[in-house]
Amino acid sequence: MEELAIYGGRPVRETPVYYGRQCIEQDDVEAVTAALVSDLITCGPRTTQLEEMLCSITGAKYAVVVSNGTAALHLAALAAGFAEGDEVIVSSITFAASANCVRYCGAVPVFADIDPRTYNLDPDSVRKLITPKTKAVVAVDFTGQAVKLDELRAICREHGLTLIEDAAHAIGTKYKGQPVGSISDMTCFSFHPVKTITSGEGGAVTTNDEQLYRKLLRLRTHGITRNQEEMVHPTDAKWYNEQVELGYNYRLTDFQAALLISQLRKLPRFSARRREIVERYNEAFKDMPEIILQEEIAESDTTRHLYIIRLNPELLHCDRRQFFDALYAENICPQVHYMPVYYHSYYEKLGYTKGICPNAEKFYEEVMSIPLYYSLTDKEVEDVIRAVKKVTAYYGKA
Ligand SMILES: *Cc1c(COP(=O)(O)O)cnc(C)c1O
Repeated sequence: MEELAIYGGRPVRETPVYYGRQCIEQDDVEAVTAALVSDLITCGPRTTQLEEMLCSITGAKYAVVVSNGTAALHLAALAAGFAEGDEVIVSSITFAASANCVRYCGAVPVFADIDPRTYNLDPDSVRKLITPKTKAVVAVDFTGQAVKLDELRAICREHGLTLIEDAAHAIGTKYKGQPVGSISDMTCFSFHPVKTITSGEGGAVTTNDEQLYRKLLRLRTHGITRNQEEMVHPTDAKWYNEQVELGYNYRLTDFQAALLISQLRKLPRFSARRREIVERYNEAFKDMPEIILQEEIAESDTTRHLYIIRLNPELLHCDRRQFFDALYAENICPQVHYMPVYYHSYYEKLGYTKGICPNAEKFYEEVMSIPLYYSLTDKEVEDVIRAVKKVTAYYGKA
């Protein structure tokens, strides 16, 4: 058996490969440069063009681009009217921002468990947590795979709840043939560099509801409106604008919009390559009982953001920490997505305790995300596979 690098053996690679990274090409650079020397470098024509493109890609009636994905979630939470005394049901396996947006509004996140096979929010768990105080559900399309949107929409309709979809992982994904972004009451996207396409920092909210759209637009710019219909003191004076509520400055610059327009055009190519890598990994790991793969549901045509391997603890002599460190030493650098949000000490201090979501907690003990991004070369993909097999063979009980 090959000696693991962590015990002094030769690593599978000499240079590290990380779980994710952006792909910026020459035409992206040129698009940004052109925007930088134009008249308007924030909230200019590129922002409008980008919003139109997002509408056409997602099929949503309205899109509001903002400074990052967390700002998108915050504005969606405000537009949905989250306030003190409200409860909002949130996926337990997600980035903290999905729950933080509830806290920003003084409301209480209630964590729901995941399906142990798809790792997405389990609608049955959501149903059990509904109380008279429940205001909304924040559901995450984890790894890019669409959450069970039909079930969640039915639950929300029945109980008068708002459905906010955190699609930070899922730009380009379709659910039953319909693009993510046009299905929930509001859908939030992130364009952070690890996501499928990037504007450095950036985000968006899409919706089909005109009222929500108007509110999102206002909240993005300080709560200020130039629309007379929205004013308490309407006037047609050209200089007049009115702050009608407390908003923020969550605008995106036009040079970031230029980058995202350029990146959006590449989405089909980026998605296809990610799909190819996913298929290669699936093929390589399918006959390894030590590694459990995420179940794919037929309803989701997925642009995959993350590739997760889950260890079968019964067939390995090591725990996740040892496996992770061993892989890292081979220069294949995984990451863990995610720890249950309520394990964070901030949430612990608010009184959340272990045991709330058993499936999520078990999931966290056993998983890691291996490299998946557009510019990963075939050689790098094979190195990842070789390293996973090497570590598995070393620790495997078979
Ligand atoms: C990245 C991410 C966010 C936050 O997006 P930012 O643009 O980094 O603020 C929110 N939710 C999920 C699930 C994410 O992966």
